[in-house]
Order: sequence, then C-alpha cells, then structure tokens
Amino acid sequence: MSTSTADRIAAARERIARASDAVGRDPGDVRLLLATKTMPADVVLEAVRAGADLIGENRVQELAAKGPALDTLAERPQVHLIGHLQSNKVNAALRWADCLETIDTLALAERVARRCHAESRVLDVMVQVNTSDEPTKSGVPPEQAAELADAVAEIEGLRLRGFMTIGANSDDEREVRASYARLRAVRDEVAGRVPSARELSMGMSRDFPWAVAEGATIVRLGTAVFGPRS
Ligand SMILES: *Cc1c(COP(=O)(O)O)cnc(C)c1O
Repeated sequence: MSTSTADRIAAARERIARASDAVGRDPGDVRLLLATKTMPADVVLEAVRAGADLIGENRVQELAAKGPALDTLAERPQVHLIGHLQSNKVNAALRWADCLETIDTLALAERVARRCHAESRVLDVMVQVNTSDEPTKSGVPPEQAAELADAVAEIEGLRLRGFMTIGANSDDEREVRASYARLRAVRDEVAGRVPSARELSMGMSRDFPWAVAEGATIVRLGTAVFGPRS
C-alpha cells in the first residue's frame, strides 16, 4: 500500500520540524523546497495541490517542459532553478523561474540582469558556493563568495536573496556540517551589508537535519518525498 503524496509531504515537513526543534529553531523558519527533477508534470501538479508551495528544477529544459502545466494551477508554486544555468538558457530560465539559486559568476549575473532589465523586472537570485571544494561541483569558491555576492547585490534588476550549496558528498557528520557552516559564515558576512541576503538553501534528503542545525532556511528534498529516482 503506497502512501499519498500529501502524506509524504506532511511526513517530510514533520521531519523538518523535528530537526528544527532539536536545535531550538522555529520550524516556521525552514521552508521545504521539493526537488522535482525527473518527476513528470502530473506528479509535480499533484504535489502542488497537496500543499507544496516551492519547487526546484535542475534543468531549464525540464523546467520549460513542466512550466505550462504549472501555469494551469490556481495557486502557482514558487519555482527555483537549482541546477547549473548555461548562459544560452537564460531566457528560458527567466520565463519559468522566480529565483535562480545557482549564480556563480559575475558574467552570468550580468547576463541575467540584462535580460531582467529588458523586461523591466527584478529577479531573486542566490549565489551558489562550492563549500566542499569538490572539483566536479559548480559554485564559487568560499573565499570568493562574499566578493561575488557583494557585486551581484549591486546589479540593477537582481535582488540577492542569499546563498545555496550542495553539501559535502560524505556520511561524516562533521565534514558535511563544516560545509554548511561555511555557507552560513559567508551569509553572515554578506547579510551585514545586504539585508535581503538571508536565505541559506542547503540540505538534501540524506543530510537535511545537519543543514537545519547549521541554519538552513530552505531544504531541498527529492527522494525523501518522491522515493528513489529511476
Ligand atoms: C536532486 C537535488 C536535490 C534533492 O536531492 P534528494 O537527495 O533527492 O533529496 C537537492 N538539490 C539539488 C541541487 C539537487 O540536484
């Protein structure tokens, strides 16, 4: 007997609340972002109808494929791009995303901003930081993150909302938490100058309690809600 999507979302929220309680945080300060990559549009629609108000897609192409279905909803969820953005996909990304979490170069930020300017629009963005120094990961190195964020915050057409990272690929709690703590340190520094930049998007199904303990304001869950991806 399989549980419903609504039940699985409720269970995930419950686990986030418990992780928050465990470290004395207000559960209302941690949002659930459903990572919907590879999920067909009807599954995403079901999740949104079941109460998901924030979804994240990795690939612009996949986002564009599901976007029209999302537009049919009475209550459209917020949509974040959480995967690497190629500069030739900026237009399509802007058509469907409310926030780009993966800004990691000034050139990309400027390219996005030019598009926003042309549309007289202000777009929420986050800076992706490679907090685990894994060479295969995108993201600006931590020691350059504050400088990039300060520059992004100055660009007209963009509103810097915070920072995103993918934690260290490890089962070692200390190592994973160290990568999340690094993101928080960057945020603390930059938010002192840029008050809008409070968000910390960090934590996935296997490690989100550790991210919550380090201050996550958005956790990005896929398999914890949808089960393993085929
Ligand atoms: C897939 C993905 C997630 C969710 O991963 P799960 O392990 O399925 O929870 C979160 N963030 C990013 C950037 C992803 O690509």
